[in-house]
Amino acid sequence: MQDKIWLSSPHMGGTEQNYINEAFAENWIAPLGPNVTGFENDLETYLGQDAHVACVSSGTGAIHLALDMAGVEAGDEVLCQTFTFCGSSNPIKYMGATPVFVDSEAETWNMSPEFLEEAILDGIKRGKKPKAVIAVHLYGMPAKIDKIEAVCKKHNVYLIEDAAEALGSSYKNQKCGTFGDFSILSFNGNKIITTSGGGALVCRDKETKEKAIFLATQARDAAPHYQHSTIGYNYRMSNIVAGIGRGQMEVLDKHVALRRNNNKFYKNLFKEIDGINVFSEPNSDYYSNHWLTAITYEKPDNQPFIENLRLFLQKFNIESRPLWKPMHLQPVYDGAKFYGDNTASKIFKKGLCLPSGSNLSDSQKDRIENAVRTYFS
Ligand SMILES: *Cc1c(COP(=O)(O)O)cnc(C)c1O
Repeated sequence: MQDKIWLSSPHMGGTEQNYINEAFAENWIAPLGPNVTGFENDLETYLGQDAHVACVSSGTGAIHLALDMAGVEAGDEVLCQTFTFCGSSNPIKYMGATPVFVDSEAETWNMSPEFLEEAILDGIKRGKKPKAVIAVHLYGMPAKIDKIEAVCKKHNVYLIEDAAEALGSSYKNQKCGTFGDFSILSFNGNKIITTSGGGALVCRDKETKEKAIFLATQARDAAPHYQHSTIGYNYRMSNIVAGIGRGQMEVLDKHVALRRNNNKFYKNLFKEIDGINVFSEPNSDYYSNHWLTAITYEKPDNQPFIENLRLFLQKFNIESRPLWKPMHLQPVYDGAKFYGDNTASKIFKKGLCLPSGSNLSDSQKDRIENAVRTYFS
C-alpha cells in the first residue's frame, strides 16, 4: 500500500524545535513565558488593525471566553452559523445558553446576512433578542462579513468571528480575524498553522485582552493568597506549545501560498470533468487561504456519487472527507431553532473536501489526479 495522503496534516517549517529548546533551557515549562508573549506579538503584527491577541489552549475555549465576555447567561439565545464544526456551537451550551442556527448563502457557504436579520427580528418578536452571533469563514472562505457586521451593529448584538479556518484569508483587503467584537483562531493539528493544539482570542483593545487573560488563568484577584470574585477558566496556552506557534508564523505566508496552489491544481484537474464545481472565491473582494479545497457534484443523485468517490479514493489510501454536517441536523442539537432555506444541507449532500495540506507533494498530486481520472472515466 502506498503511503497515506492526508486531508491536512501538520507541516513544520523547521525552526519550531529551537523555540521549544529555549523553553527547556530556561525552564519556562508553564502556561506563560517568552514563547506565549512572542507568539501573541507575532499574531498581533500579522493581523494588524489593532488586534490584541490572547493565546489559549483551543479555539473552542476561545469561543467560550468570548461568549462569557459578551455577557451571555444561562437561558439566553445565541445565533450560530449552522454550516460549521461543533467547536463553534458547543460553547453556547457550556454557558447554559440556547443555540439558534442560521443558514448559509450559496456564494460563500457562510452565514446569510438575510437569514441572520430574520432570526434577530423573530427573536425580538418572541421576547428573546439574541445576545451574540457566531459567524464562520468556512474552509478559509471569507463570509459576507461586512453585511453580517452591519446587521449586528443595527440591532446592537455582539459579533464573534470564528476565523479558526481562516488565518491568512482576507475580505476587501482586511484580514479575517479582525472583524466583529471578538475573533477566534485555532491551531489544532490540521489547521493552517498548528501548535499541536491551541487557539487564540482576538480582542479589539488592550483592556479586553487583559480581561481575557485574567479569565483564562482562573480569575485570580490581586491578593497574596488565592482569592477569587469571578469564576474563571484554566485556558491559557502552554509556553512549549507557543514555541511551535512562533516557528509556524515564520512560514505562514508560504503555507497559505501552497494551499492556494493546491486549489489551482484542483481547478485544473476538474476543468474538463462534467458536473464538478471547485469551491471558489466569488470575486476579487474575497481572498481565501483555501485551507481545504472542496468540490460539489452538481447533478441529480449527487449524494451516492460523491460518497462513492470518497470510498474510491480511500482504496488508493487518499483521504477525503464529507463537508461539515450542519449543526441543526446533528442529533445533539435536535429540536434547535433554525432560520433558512436548507442551502447548507443541500451543499453538505453534494460536497467533498480533498487533500489540501501545504505539504502535499507533486507525486501525491499525481496519485490524486490518476485516481480522480480513473473514477470519472
Ligand atoms: C477547528 C475549529 C474550531 C475549534 O478549534 P479547536 O482549536 O479545535 O478547539 C472552531 N470552529 C471551526 C470552524 C473550526 O474549524
